[in-house]
Amino acid sequence: MMTYTFPPPARPVVPVEGSSDVFPVRRILCVGRNYAAHAREMGDDARDPPFFFAKPADAVAPLPTTVPYPSATSDLHHEIELVAALKAGGENLTPEQAIDLVFGYAVGVDLTRRDLQAAAKAKSHPWEAAKAFDASAPISAIRPISGPPPQGAIFLSVNGVERQRGQIADMIWNVAEVIAQASQLWRLEAGDLIFTGTPEGVGAIVRGDRVEGEVEGVGKLSFTVV
Ligand code: MN
Repeated sequence: MMTYTFPPPARPVVPVEGSSDVFPVRRILCVGRNYAAHAREMGDDARDPPFFFAKPADAVAPLPTTVPYPSATSDLHHEIELVAALKAGGENLTPEQAIDLVFGYAVGVDLTRRDLQAAAKAKSHPWEAAKAFDASAPISAIRPISGPPPQGAIFLSVNGVERQRGQIADMIWNVAEVIAQASQLWRLEAGDLIFTGTPEGVGAIVRGDRVEGEVEGVGKLSFTVV
């Protein structure tokens, strides 16, 4: 019989709205810039394929009231994002197949050490220290939603002043396409969370700031940086 060398850490979970159930997180995939500042041109061929990065499953900070200001940065940025939560897996999926994997959606913030990201970009270094740090993925409860994904507004304020606003419908790659593209690169599984990119207006937050985000039809998220 197999014995662990030490008690394994608890699986990260996210609450499910309207239920006592919790969603077990397997991993977190995030898509890079995915909102056009201007109306996108006609024709899919003009779109660059989405690029992805990852955060560890235990980066989720579910229903946070506070989020710790991370070490080693002086330029922590907020990125409000729609998050798709998968109830099933697959690979090499079409968008039509991909959307059927979705259990529901949450509101997430892709916290970013922007200074470390800029340094990594300049040196062609990996992004983990900029993106995949502890508590770098604050997230709301998951709202179970099947069928068409949300299409409403997505917005974030800091200390009551709006910083970011966009429309889910303005994504360059929609939710189904993002999941389908991810499934060309990884075998997706139940428990995967997909952060789908952020609209314009990212900016710095500091200790004491109150961050409030919302996606219409999905929910709200608010926390104080400590
Ligand atoms: Mn992001």
